[in-house]
Amino acid sequence: MSSTRRPFLLTLEGVTKSFDGFRAINELNLYLDEGELRVIIGPNGAGKSTMLDLITGRTRPDKGKIEFGENVNLTELNEYEIARLGIGRKFQTPSVYVHHTVEENIWLSLRGERGIWSCLFSRLKPAERDRIHEVLTTIGLVDRAHWQAGALSHGQKQWLEIGMLLAQSPRLLLVDEPAAGMTDAETERTGELLLSLAGKHTIVVIEHDMVFVRQIARTVTVLHQGSMLCEGTVDHVQSDERVKEVYLGRKKKGHAAAA
Ligand code: ADP
Ligand code: MG
Repeated sequence: MSSTRRPFLLTLEGVTKSFDGFRAINELNLYLDEGELRVIIGPNGAGKSTMLDLITGRTRPDKGKIEFGENVNLTELNEYEIARLGIGRKFQTPSVYVHHTVEENIWLSLRGERGIWSCLFSRLKPAERDRIHEVLTTIGLVDRAHWQAGALSHGQKQWLEIGMLLAQSPRLLLVDEPAAGMTDAETERTGELLLSLAGKHTIVVIEHDMVFVRQIARTVTVLHQGSMLCEGTVDHVQSDERVKEVYLGRKKKGHAAAA
C-alpha cells in the first residue's frame, strides 16, 4: 500500500559522532514533522547540544544521514548554507547587541548578512517597521522597543534573541535550554511563546526543567549516551523504567533530575 504521509522536515538516521574515541552521539535516529514542537531531555553529557551541532553543521557526523525537507543532505553543507535554508539556533546564553536598542537588534537580524553597516547608513523601511513590530508583539517586548538591549532582564534577552531568529523566518528553530536562569514567571511566558510559535515553525527545545517540559511538551525524546532512550508523551517517558534509572542514577550524584 502506498503511503500518503508527508515527508519529515528533519530526519536523522544512524548518526554517530565520536570525540577522541568517545561516542557523544551513537546511532541516533530522530524524525520531526513539519510544525511540531519537540522537547528533548536527557542528563548532562547525553549529547543534546552535540545533536544540535550536527544539525547546524557546526560538527560533522562520522556517519549517518541528516536530511532536511525534501532530501536536502545537511551533511554536505556548511553552517552558513544550513542557516540559509531556514534553520535557526539559539544557544544557551543570550547573545544580543547590548549597546543597540531592542528594535535595532531585530532590525539587524532582519537585514541578515548586510548587517550593521547597512543599518547605520539607511533608514528603517515601512515594511521593516511592520515586521519588527510583529516580531516584538510575538515576543512581548513592544513596550521595550527603544530600550538598550543590555538593560533587559535575562529572560527578556532570551526572548529578544528568539525574536532575532524569528525575524529570519526560520522553518526549523533549535532552542537550547531557554528556561535556564529564568524566574518562574519568565519560564512560563517562554513556554507560552514557544507554544504560540509551534505550527508556524518546527521547533526543537532542549530542556531540563520538568515543570516547563510539562507545560509545552507534546512529544518528548529522551536522549541518553548519544542515543534515543525513549519517546512519547511526558507521562509516558516519566513512567518508563529506563528513564527513571538514568535520572535516579544522576540524582544520587547530586545532579538536577529531569524525570
Ligand atoms: P548535553 O548537551 O546533553 O549536556 P553535550 O552534547 O554537550 O551534552 O556533550 C556530550 C558529550 O560530548 C560530552 O561528554 C562532551 O564533553 C562531549 N563533547 C561535546 N562537544 C565536544 C567537542 N567539540 N569536543 C570534545 N568533546 C565534546
Ligand atoms: Mg547541552
